[in-house]
Amino acid sequence: MTHVTPKSEPTRDSAQLLDPVQRLSLSDQVVERLRTEISEGRWPVGERIPPEPELMASLGVARGTLREALRALQYSGMLEIRRGDGTFVRARSEVPGALARSGASLRDVLEARRALEPQLARLAAERATQDDTARIADALAARSASSDEEWVEADVAVHEAIARAARNPILFEVYTALLPRLHESMRSAQQREGFCRDEPRGHDDVLEAIRRRDPDAAAASAEENLAATEVWDAGEAESNTAGRGEQRR
Ligand SMILES: [Zn+2]
Repeated sequence: MTHVTPKSEPTRDSAQLLDPVQRLSLSDQVVERLRTEISEGRWPVGERIPPEPELMASLGVARGTLREALRALQYSGMLEIRRGDGTFVRARSEVPGALARSGASLRDVLEARRALEPQLARLAAERATQDDTARIADALAARSASSDEEWVEADVAVHEAIARAARNPILFEVYTALLPRLHESMRSAQQREGFCRDEPRGHDDVLEAIRRRDPDAAAASAEENLAATEVWDAGEAESNTAGRGEQRR
């Protein structure tokens, strides 16, 4: 991590083992406090955080300091400031925001999914609790019953339920950070000609394999599902060169 030494800072002499700890600025301290509320889930994603006067009073800081902290958290992608409406939690960590700014293409997202989804399915087959499998089954049922409008949301929920069942908080964090991009790629797929929302069948197969506690079969189904997505995406590339790219969003 780079760190900037202010000019007033005494220079480190050769007898000193480590640089002295630097005091955080007031707004950095506020960032840390708010970040903790969010990352520990006390302020859930999608909810509005308490209003400015309340935060100022409880943190004991001025409006300017609080706003600086809120803007920093907005930049990192954890908060969204909606003028006149309040400030909302967008993500539990900086990872989704960093991904959104990384300039990753849909191809990059697909490669990351290929690295993660088979492993998540495999772990889910080893570890899923009854609640986990019930959650996946519910998500699949909701996906089948969804309207075209709701379908993308419902499909993403299935992927999230499988990832949760893998019971690895790091993989879950990394994978859920990809979900907004997954959402985006499916929206664009859905708008293309010939899109069949119930293809591929991979999702039901993954659940069956998880229920049977068959990690290899679960990983294989997840891979098949991705292979089908890749074939579809190759079609997208063709249709783009044919000038139908404007259909995408
Ligand atoms: Zn899916």
